[in-house]
Amino acid sequence: MSTDTQVLLDHNRAWAARMERERPGFFTGLMAQQKPRYMWIGCSDSRVPANEITGLEPGEIFVHRNVGNVVVHSDLNALSTIQFAVEHLKVKHVMVVGHYGCAGVRAALQGLRIGLSDNWLRHISDLKLRHRKRIDYLPSEQQEDTLCEINVIEQVGNVALSTVMQDAWDRGQKVAVHGWVYGLRDGLLKDLQVSMDGPDTVVDIFRAAIKRYPHAQHHADDRVLDTAFDPLA
Ligand code: ZN
Repeated sequence: MSTDTQVLLDHNRAWAARMERERPGFFTGLMAQQKPRYMWIGCSDSRVPANEITGLEPGEIFVHRNVGNVVVHSDLNALSTIQFAVEHLKVKHVMVVGHYGCAGVRAALQGLRIGLSDNWLRHISDLKLRHRKRIDYLPSEQQEDTLCEINVIEQVGNVALSTVMQDAWDRGQKVAVHGWVYGLRDGLLKDLQVSMDGPDTVVDIFRAAIKRYPHAQHHADDRVLDTAFDPLA
């Protein structure tokens, strides 16, 4: 076996032994049942690990990650994970967490060709087009940070409008969706103030969040296209 992977197995044995020594019964306690209060929908980027960033232990956060932290209405993987978290684990909070310096967002912004994932990142490219009035006129480094944030806000909207969340709220279940973005340069999470805890709040909170990003005036002639791309406009 390669030493690259053997070192991980060695670390694992040492970690498991230390946990059991310091907190006897830790693993058998988790075996019975997981009861996380939180679900994390984040980017696959290796620099953004959910548990470490939030100080949570095994059993405390249910995680779904993909390139660019995208939630697509037809993605059975993401939807099944959200459904399990909300309906069976009864999480109280679902956080969509993007991060600055996201290679997926950068590729979508710059139209870079990566390969198969171009098709996945097309969802973020569509957001760049939909919100071009708020993005195109910015300096390039601000464009990337802004698209990272707007992508999170849009994905929060997608989670909130999913049948899973709508059904949960219809049942009266207490569960909220939040949007955060993580800074690689300082390790800090920023709350994008787009938390939604019921079906009546979705449109107003989404609109208010997007309107925090000023847009250039010279795109006023794009009104028809905007309406076509933005049912919440
Ligand atoms: Zn990323």
